[in-house]
Amino acid sequence: MSHKQILLVLTLTLASVFSLAQQKPIEIHDELAPQASASRRVALTLDACSGQYDDDLIEFLIRNRIPATIFATKRWLDHNSFGVSVIKAHLDLFDVEDHGENHVPAVIGVGRKVYGIPGEPDLIHLRREVTEGARAIERVTGVAPHWYRGATAVYDPQAIAEIGKLGYRIAGFSFVRLDQVDLQEIQDTVEKRSKERGVGQ
Ligand SMILES: [Zn+2]
Repeated sequence: MSHKQILLVLTLTLASVFSLAQQKPIEIHDELAPQASASRRVALTLDACSGQYDDDLIEFLIRNRIPATIFATKRWLDHNSFGVSVIKAHLDLFDVEDHGENHVPAVIGVGRKVYGIPGEPDLIHLRREVTEGARAIERVTGVAPHWYRGATAVYDPQAIAEIGKLGYRIAGFSFVRLDQVDLQEIQDTVEKRSKERGVGQ
């Protein structure tokens, strides 16, 4: 597989999200913004939430020189020092972006949950989740993140607005759960989706 076939799925049309003006939380995916440049790209993105470092996956990406964006929580960075060291040694391939401090979904209101995970009681807590996650990444990698993907990738409109005010773009996603597929399937899926979207030529 060429590098061109695996590149970026990160771009998201925030304007279209705001225009929905929904009260209920929004799950952002398949919201690809048209690229002005000739080279439209698809990105492989991974979430490092609260679990363990997956060395099979990361080594596969390194061996095959497949770039990926890793959305990491502060919690994950704090508990996976070996994984962090491998990723840091390959920042030419890996971009580390913000997945929050403690993997709390970006829905606001006491008692609210997404997939059983409690959200934020208020915007102050959301701000901390976003900014402390970013600070941890900059401390570890030396590079400040610019993208935010909240836990569960479900967002309240007010959370989307707040994350934007903090200076982050919200990253959607479009495909597979990596813990439920094998690596060959990932490769096949990326190639298939790239073809379907007519990208990576
Ligand atoms: Zn996550």
